[in-house]
Amino acid sequence: MHEQLDHVHQNIEQGEDETLQILQRLVAQPSISARNEGVRECAELLCEIMRDAGIKARIIPSEGQPVVYGEIMTDPNAYTLLCYGHYDVQPPEPLEEWESPPFEPEIRDGRMYGRGVGDNKGQLLAHILATAHWLEVSGDTPINVKFVFEGEEESGSPNLRSFVRDNAELLRSDLVYISDGGMHPSGNPTVSLGNRGILGVSLLAEEADRDNHSGNKGGAVPNPVWTLTHLLSATVDPTGEVLIDGFYDDVRPITETEEALIADLPFDRREMGATMGLQELNMTPGEYYRRIMLQPYFNISGFSSGYVGPGAKTIIPGQAECRIDIRLVADQETADIADKLQAHVHRHAPQVRVKVGQVGSMEPSRTSPDHPTIAPVSQAIRGVHGTDPLILPSGGGSLPNAVWPQELGTAHIGVPYANADEHNHSPNENLRLDYFFRGIHTSALLLFELARARQRGQI
Ligand SMILES: [Zn+2]
Repeated sequence: MHEQLDHVHQNIEQGEDETLQILQRLVAQPSISARNEGVRECAELLCEIMRDAGIKARIIPSEGQPVVYGEIMTDPNAYTLLCYGHYDVQPPEPLEEWESPPFEPEIRDGRMYGRGVGDNKGQLLAHILATAHWLEVSGDTPINVKFVFEGEEESGSPNLRSFVRDNAELLRSDLVYISDGGMHPSGNPTVSLGNRGILGVSLLAEEADRDNHSGNKGGAVPNPVWTLTHLLSATVDPTGEVLIDGFYDDVRPITETEEALIADLPFDRREMGATMGLQELNMTPGEYYRRIMLQPYFNISGFSSGYVGPGAKTIIPGQAECRIDIRLVADQETADIADKLQAHVHRHAPQVRVKVGQVGSMEPSRTSPDHPTIAPVSQAIRGVHGTDPLILPSGGGSLPNAVWPQELGTAHIGVPYANADEHNHSPNENLRLDYFFRGIHTSALLLFELARARQRGQI
């Protein structure tokens, strides 16, 4: 298999021009899920690209946009990798800020520019092409490979869970592998083992059915701003500790391995502060990473009431609204936390209305840092980059990863292939071509490393 691996790497290098043409073709096809523009056509194109690569591919309808599914089944008893990605893209606006049109991909200074090139078309294509090169060289892949590419990730993956549940047998696998997002700004490759969840909530306090004169009625009419601020003070203390009964009950304890991993992550107070618009971040590295990855956070994202325009308007506002997003960690559950919050509000301010689901909610998920697959994944990365990956116990943001362990019982690992400055979701989205090709090599080597680890009985 070693000799074949060398051939695979050589073929990837020799096929670079053709590879870029395929990427260009895929990026040129708009697939904006937010307004259902070109999504179906993109699914068909992707399916065709996969078939051309020798992968058994088909389109499977979901309750929303179709899923493009593909597989190479070498041996039913072999290790099975499932590559998950998404072929839909963010809307490209504002168009005037693009240096070249978003759906006319252009190569400049070693990068391809176009909407979706990094998020996520180039990254999912890396898995397809790595598989194609194995098929070309040996007529087979070292392990079984399945592909699930959804068409509504940029709209919050509303149907991914039901799709995975309905197709659990088809999707049965040993590991879900996800390449999305960018590497560390230093260019150091990263492995991400999880994500935080999110629960969006709106709190609405309505007292009088109109604004009242604060002189004539002040002291008699209740003020909804006080109602909400008292409620919020009873919800989170000044250190950030959430005071809702049972809020922390299911928070998974941080392991020694996780502590050791975050202690190893690069951290410079000043630099880190600058990326957030702060003079300096007054925190130890352990504190910082623990807080953004492994602990929940109760955030107020907006508060609206009364009058803050020019001059004065002396009123007691009739209503006040507060928007909240609670970032959850494994093994908290959005439904359970929503219930606990409802009960808390009911106890402290029963007149406040709680509206759940202002933002799409997502469950948290975290793969154990002691999971045996991390070794072969890291080995594949090391083989291509010549350096060890940074291992993040979790990302801070929210992704639909929880569906894999919950619906399939399968662990997930994220290995981003894009550059940190890929400008995903922004104008001039781009993918560094050297990163793209390294991604293809990494996926190709990963199939080999997983097969070898299986042979050795390590996974
Ligand atoms: Zn995205």
